[in-house]
Parts: sequence; structure tokens; C-alpha cells
Amino acid sequence: MAAGHAERPGRLRPYAQAVGAAAGEADGGRPETALALLRRARRMARELAVLHPDAHCELDFTTPLELAVATVLSAQCTDKRVNEVTPALFARYPTAADYAAADRAELEELIRPTGFFRNKAASLQGLGAALVERYGGEVPDRLADLVTLPGIGRKTANVVLGDAFGVPGITVDTHVGRLARRFGWTREEDPVKVEHALGALVPRTEWTLLSHRMIFHGRRVCHARRPACGACGLARWCPSYGLGPTDPDLAGSLLKTPAEVEVSP
Ligand code: SF4
Repeated sequence: MAAGHAERPGRLRPYAQAVGAAAGEADGGRPETALALLRRARRMARELAVLHPDAHCELDFTTPLELAVATVLSAQCTDKRVNEVTPALFARYPTAADYAAADRAELEELIRPTGFFRNKAASLQGLGAALVERYGGEVPDRLADLVTLPGIGRKTANVVLGDAFGVPGITVDTHVGRLARRFGWTREEDPVKVEHALGALVPRTEWTLLSHRMIFHGRRVCHARRPACGACGLARWCPSYGLGPTDPDLAGSLLKTPAEVEVSP
């Protein structure tokens, strides 16, 4: 796995220092200038591309409607589980009008394995109805329109924009938010503020892929509980290096393979 590059950091910092260094402070507590942050962020973004050359949307879809539906189902659920459910779902409901007119009990049964199936079924019916009523049954390709649809928040809208329409979008899910803060790219907790902070650091054309690469890195290397710092290719630029084990063997054992990633959201 490319993410397993055990690149020895050029500057090693204990976590106590790293906490102070995150988001705007360099070694020794000196403030990191805006230009230094920009350069460091772009260097890390380039390295993420090297570490995760195959990063992509892990939901299966062929149309914007299918991606919107899959993204609604992915809330609190693994992409793998969603991908197991969607072939039968997409075959049964090929159009927005089909979701609008669906028998609720049948729809719930089809999506039950993804969890929260009653809420999700209501969202899908509402989404289908809204698309038919307001957009001629088509999924719109503007953020302002997408976020008005049932079940579609800003995060989902950016997924649809980026992956179905090729319109650059930054998707701030739990991984992207966590990594952006660990990288010292922002201190913000609010996803919209994180999205804007990242958008200012990375060229617009890279937004969609950056999101996928950060999600890949978060799922495979920079885990929420025990990040694999000693086996992380970003270690030399990351102020949070040392948050997880730095021993290469121990850290290497924490890396997740694609098969292992599929069992966790
Ligand atoms: S694994 Fe450690 S070094 Fe790598 S990005 Fe996460 S916190 Fe930084």
C-alpha cells in the first residue's frame, strides 16, 4: 500500500510540542506565517497524491441521482454496505419519480442494512419528489440548489458536485475535519469553516481529489484513535507527529488495508 511509505521525519517533535504547533505555530511556538502554511499545505497535498494515487469516491454509481442516493445512505454506514444494497435499489428505482412514488415499506426493506432506514427512506422519497417538482426529475449541478433538497446537506452536495458533475468541491466529513486540524491547516471545528480554510490553501482544481486523498489517509493511516505516525508519509510536515506510535513496526501494524477499511465508516 502506497500509504505505508515509512518516511523518516526530518524534524521529530513530541506530541506536547505538536499540540502547540498545530494550526499556526511552527517549531518552538513561533507563529507559522501564512506563506509558510500555504507552502507546507501544498507540499502535503502533493505528497497525499503520491501516497494515495488511487483515491476515489468509494461509493458505486453511474448517474448523479445514483450518487445522491448512495450518499444519503452512507450516513452512519460503511461504503461497502451501501454498495451491497444499491444494485437492487437502483434497478428497482431508476428515476427520481420512482423514489417519489415508492411504496415506503418496500423501500425501507431494501435499504434496511444501511441503518436508520426509516429516516433514510423518508429522505429518498422527499428527494425524489423535490427533484420531480422543482428540477424536472434531474439532479441540479449547483451547490445552492443541491442543499435545498431533502437529505442533502453541504457535505453530500459537495460529493455529488465533485464526483458526478466534475465541479470542484471539498467534502468535509469526519476524516477531512480531523486531518485538517492535525495537519495544522486550521483550528476550526465547524465543517463549513474547515471547507473554506482548505479551499484557501489548495487550488480549486484539486479540491475534489484532495478530499478523497484525505479520506483515504484518514481511513488507512491517520486513524481517529491511534494514528500510525511512525509509518506515515506526511510525518515530516505534520505538527501532530507523535500523536500515535512513532515506532515504525508498531505504527506499521496499525495501517489498514483496503479490505479492513471497508468495515469501518
Ligand atoms: S498519522 Fe501522525 S504524522 Fe501522519 S498525518 Fe496523522 S498525526 Fe500526522
